[in-house]
Amino acid sequence: MNWTCPHCQRPQTLTDPQEQFGKIRIDIERHRQGSAALTYRIRGCANDDCRMLTITAELRKTFDGTGNVNNNYAPLKVWTLQPQGTSKVQPDYIPKALVEDYTEACLIRDLSPKASATLARRCLQGMIRDFCGISKNRLVDEISALRTAVDAQTAPRDVSPDSLDAIDAVRKVGNIGAHMESDINNIVPVEPVEAQLLIELVESLFDEWYVARHKRQQRFAAVAKLAESKKATKVSTKPTAPPSAPPLSSDPDAPGPA
Ligand SMILES: [Zn+2]
Repeated sequence: MNWTCPHCQRPQTLTDPQEQFGKIRIDIERHRQGSAALTYRIRGCANDDCRMLTITAELRKTFDGTGNVNNNYAPLKVWTLQPQGTSKVQPDYIPKALVEDYTEACLIRDLSPKASATLARRCLQGMIRDFCGISKNRLVDEISALRTAVDAQTAPRDVSPDSLDAIDAVRKVGNIGAHMESDINNIVPVEPVEAQLLIELVESLFDEWYVARHKRQQRFAAVAKLAESKKATKVSTKPTAPPSAPPLSSDPDAPGPA
């Protein structure tokens, strides 16, 4: 059987020792999926440079009561358990749209480096727009406006010259450079390794910009809270009214003290 390893993209002919599969008949009563089984399949890559396992699972209809898979029906659900992209979990204070572009760029990096690079590039543009407040037609113009802002010290404080050097370094790489300088609708061929460079740039800017800013805000908030509690302690140690004084009523219509 001909098969292409999703880890290394190497087409190959699968032999028996390279594949293992099985199924679990679902005996749970009163569930909504009907007569079903969970099937799994594990394949090992024959490429010596890869040798990775690919693991998939499917939820499939079975003939009533037999546990035998009914191939007249398409799988109810298919999961690729491995490989499953290489994205890192990002904190929830990073805008959702940016994290989605990043995660999808990771998921399809090997299958479609072109689409992956396009998403990573859109994510990078989204970050410059959201975090730095710079918006131009082309990404390359936004990067140059960002450099001007950093030089003039008008950029957000977490955008260091190091961030810009990283962006520029990636921008100078072959097709990525063309990708950044072209219109957003132009598709430029990109290798998986180049798409990975863009993904790593996005990851490091998430850290340097959003995470660093969040940590600083948290530190300041903690200091402000401490200052507040110190102030409250000071107030409570002030001498209070003599105990003989009549208590003030909270009702404005109540007769005041004589
Ligand atoms: Zn492989």
